[in-house]
Amino acid sequence: MTTTVHFLENSVKKPKPNADQIAFGKHFTDHMFVMDYETGKGWFDPRIVPYEPITLDPAAMIFHYGQTVFEGLKAYRTKEDRILLFRPEENFKRLNLSSERLSIPEIDQNLALDCLKELLEVEKDWVPTKEGNSLYIRPFVIATEPNLSLAPSQTYQFIIILSPVGSYYKEGIQPVRIHVEEEYTRAVRGGTGRAKTAGNYAAAYKAQEKATKEGYSQVLWLDGVEKKYIEEVGSMNVFFKVNGEVITPELNGSILEGITRKSIIEVLKDWNVPVKERKISLEELYDAYSKGQVEEAFGTGTAAVISPVGELNWGEKKMIFNDGQIGDLSQRLYDTLTGIQTGEIEDPYNWTV
Ligand code: PMP
Repeated sequence: MTTTVHFLENSVKKPKPNADQIAFGKHFTDHMFVMDYETGKGWFDPRIVPYEPITLDPAAMIFHYGQTVFEGLKAYRTKEDRILLFRPEENFKRLNLSSERLSIPEIDQNLALDCLKELLEVEKDWVPTKEGNSLYIRPFVIATEPNLSLAPSQTYQFIIILSPVGSYYKEGIQPVRIHVEEEYTRAVRGGTGRAKTAGNYAAAYKAQEKATKEGYSQVLWLDGVEKKYIEEVGSMNVFFKVNGEVITPELNGSILEGITRKSIIEVLKDWNVPVKERKISLEELYDAYSKGQVEEAFGTGTAAVISPVGELNWGEKKMIFNDGQIGDLSQRLYDTLTGIQTGEIEDPYNWTV
């Protein structure tokens, strides 16, 4: 790496959380990575510093207009004590794609990955040893200029924080019950759905609240215009196996381009399982379901990797997939992806670094 990352060691070392009961996103390591940006100067002063609160002016633009983007990925410790990242270059590529949409300056992807690796080297003891646990990585960019004008910020910070997390499935894979959301919309084409930006997630809380109240764990998002086509499930992409063919909504500008989604498609192609990215209406799915043709349904994302959908509730119409159990293909995909991510099985695709 050509840039020197300044390192200021934290003299205080926190105790590690109990490996058996780590709450998601509540524990943070001793250090974080920070880099600044100013218009005309570019990105500068990459540094690893003690993890601590950051001070921002109350007028900092992030607080008012939400000019921010983020990423999420995990580091796993292998049995041989190596630390593996799964396709991290894809996360930094997507960070830049999100930044482009939010008028945030891009970051050199190779530099960002090198900085992450340096931070992981400093914090390697924080990568959990317990099987299934991992170190969740949260890179993000915030607009820091104190200015209430409606225009892109002239200054930014790029920060990476690390959080040890437990296994998503503590008692084996559990299929989820999903509520079809027909009132609220997550994203529309031309909007910010394709970007990983804060507002998309804050705007999804209302629908999630409704689903939770009705006893469902997540919502199925429909397209924002016709409320007809399937887009995503919670914060996951979604797949259906219908009549032997795997289908997933095509990327249309309002769907987040999941890295797990991309990987699943590549694995299915490699296995010669027919897979298609196309528009899928809820009506079409229900029709296929009524004919007994929907074999499996599952969400994909960094958090759960594969999350089988056991039940989909669309008003009066209820669909139960594979008797509410995990399907064979979902299980095989889960085992393959998690096997590669944790170094348990060979990585034929060269995805891990
Ligand atoms: N959709 C949304 C809205 C998400 O937030 C995520 C999580 N990043 C995904 C899909 C899945 O993406 P990935 O597989 O890259 O985690």
